[in-house]
Amino acid sequence: MTPTSDVIIIGGGVIGLAIARALARDGLRVTVFERNAQPGGEASWAAAGMLAPQAEADAPGPLFDLCLRSRALYADFVAALWAETGIDAELCPAGTLLLAEEENEVAALQAKLAWQTAAGCHAEWMSPDEVQALEPLLKSAGALYLPDDWQVENRRLTQALVAATMAAQARFVCHCEGLELLVERGRVAGVEMRGERWAAPAVVNAAGSWAARMSPALLRLPARAVRPIRGQMLALRMPLLTRLRHVIRTPRAYLVPRRDGRLIVGATVEDVGYEKQVTAGGVFSLLAGALAVAPALAQAALVETWAGLRPLATDNLPIIGETDIEGLYCATGHYRNGILLTPITAEIARCLVRQLPPPCDIASFSPRRLYEADVLCSEASLPN
Ligand SMILES: Cc1cc2nc3c(=O)[nH]c(=O)nc-3n(C[C@H](O)[C@H](O)[C@H](O)COP(=O)(O)OP(=O)(O)OC[C@H]3O[C@@H](n4cnc5c(N)ncnc54)[C@H](O)[C@@H]3O)c2cc1C
Repeated sequence: MTPTSDVIIIGGGVIGLAIARALARDGLRVTVFERNAQPGGEASWAAAGMLAPQAEADAPGPLFDLCLRSRALYADFVAALWAETGIDAELCPAGTLLLAEEENEVAALQAKLAWQTAAGCHAEWMSPDEVQALEPLLKSAGALYLPDDWQVENRRLTQALVAATMAAQARFVCHCEGLELLVERGRVAGVEMRGERWAAPAVVNAAGSWAARMSPALLRLPARAVRPIRGQMLALRMPLLTRLRHVIRTPRAYLVPRRDGRLIVGATVEDVGYEKQVTAGGVFSLLAGALAVAPALAQAALVETWAGLRPLATDNLPIIGETDIEGLYCATGHYRNGILLTPITAEIARCLVRQLPPPCDIASFSPRRLYEADVLCSEASLPN
């Protein structure tokens, strides 16, 4: 007999998991298909967990608005997951310092301060002395303080989402290499794997960097509509008295202090395909960037290195919405902001699948915008 669900989610990263949880909690029969042995092991595990609409944005626009909306949902999202699972995703509200290493970086940060305060966001300039008083390890030419750009422990968030999705009675099918979409008479009918059919009237493609490779002939997305951008990361461990408290970002690296004493240092931005190798050059550049602003980190223990693949769409915007195939939706292309955008993406996808009005304007994120054009970005034009 063909197993039947109300909705199938392809991909068990934070995006697929949060959508699955939302729909399962609404009472729908949800099945999550994950290619790996376990969900949550790709970009969602590799990330730094910064919830940073203001630090990431160079100008206002639809993506900035979406990021702000999602950030506003975060405290309730983490609290709900904690209540559902007992797993605390360690939301940290200390805020972010955008550091100027040199005097010539100050003007760009002050321009950001101007447009973001005009947009109604909180931002504050700090002199080098004020920065040192706040974070004695740092040397700088000043910093822009963004009190509302928080961080979350994304590995714990992912664990909480898996547990909450299971608690809401969603099913998981892992090891599902070779999954294909089933489309009948112009509408989605489910998925097929190794000759076995799984029926569902709605399917959400949340396969991260692999989303455009899913049944490409049916999906009508060009192969590079979503492509992987490697980010290498490392973790340091410092003695208790010499720890940072805020997220620190410089043009060369960012530093994210975790509650367990690790300091996450990230990240490279590399267009090298699906290669997750950590390289000597990558580690060198991250350490050089970190030590330039916090020389005392030279004494820290290097405890972990890893790399992950950020899903980037050709026009740098997320891909969230209906496709031309009735019942088939996309939720991918979240690039550097997928952890941040998880709550709003889940709410949008929940509304789309349930035929409810979405909570905000999603026209800019429609998959249809990518059908015809395949505007290739060169490595030089990668958004930072
Ligand atoms: C180094 C690094 C640092 C980052 N830092 C931040 C940050 O600070 N803040 C932030 O907001 N974002 C950050 N990001 C981005 C964020 O991690 C991603 O945007 C987000 O995790 C994307 O989630 P996802 O669920 O779409 O993708 P993924 O987590 O990659 O999940 C996709 C899942 O789909 C599965 N899959 C793929 N193909 C198939 C298939 N055919 N069938 C079934 N399953 C399939 C994969 O195995 C995977 O588990 C960072 C990313 C990286 C790599």
